Amino acid sequence: MRLLIHAGAGTLPPEQATSSGAAAARSGLRAALAAGSAILASGGPAADAVVAAVQVLEDDPAFNAGRGACLTRAGTVELDAAWMDGASGRCGAVAGITRLRSPVVAARLIAERSGHVLMAGQGAEAWCLEAGAIAVDPAWFITPSAEAELVRWRAEEAGRSGTVGAVALDVHGHLAAATSTGGLAGKRPGRIGDSPLIGCGTYADEHAAISATGTGEGFIAAVFAHSVATAIAHGAAPEQACTDGLALVTRRLARARGGAIVLAADGRWAIRWTSSDMARGHWSPSGSGLALRGDEHLTD
Ligand code: ASP
Repeated sequence: MRLLIHAGAGTLPPEQATSSGAAAARSGLRAALAAGSAILASGGPAADAVVAAVQVLEDDPAFNAGRGACLTRAGTVELDAAWMDGASGRCGAVAGITRLRSPVVAARLIAERSGHVLMAGQGAEAWCLEAGAIAVDPAWFITPSAEAELVRWRAEEAGRSGTVGAVALDVHGHLAAATSTGGLAGKRPGRIGDSPLIGCGTYADEHAAISATGTGEGFIAAVFAHSVATAIAHGAAPEQACTDGLALVTRRLARARGGAIVLAADGRWAIRWTSSDMARGHWSPSGSGLALRGDEHLTD
């Protein structure tokens, strides 16, 4: 059994550079590891564990997903998410969501009940609400630090971003992956990144589970997550597959930076990034650890 989470690659936002901001982000990562690992430890499926971990991070305003998501250049929130069960191949995703509280829950509803894989915008929201998803006022997602990030983006034309994700291996040897994001600060309304695209930012099969974060345009062009899973299926170690996948992202788009959590069916795993920082965490029955900065080791 194993659980890996991430809360975005990039440069830590100024809020997380303060000791209280860092403590809040760490406690969010810890809560997500606790939620996901409780399911795995009691014999539950990886497919549930990744949703539980991602939901905690979505609800936490410290991260760029759900509440606290970054803003489009129009000052609005547009959320993307995906979920994939490696054992069955079932997958679902939402894009451009503005009023569903948990995009990852919506992605799973779509996978299991809609007969579709990817739904976007108002049609996705209307169907998910009928299927039982919880609605919130779009203003609920918007936090002062996301507004401050948009001001910085307007000044510098370069925004910090993030994304949250989880991959898990359960006691039955099944893998799953989930990713949820507000996308890139200052994105054009309507822009969709790699996170909700199965095989790009999110993927799981019987060999590997992957959740990515970073410049989505590069991860899409590299079909990143599927390329990493294919390499592992052909015998590559997760570290090598992830490093090669990230190199391909940068070859496809020179400015693209990011990272990924990668878990193989035999329990081997890797977390690699080409950005300066990568918020991340790890749990297995023998211990857990987390880190915010790129130069920091995973510690309890
Ligand atoms: N990959 C996300 C996107 O492009 C953003 C991020 O992970 O920072 O939408």
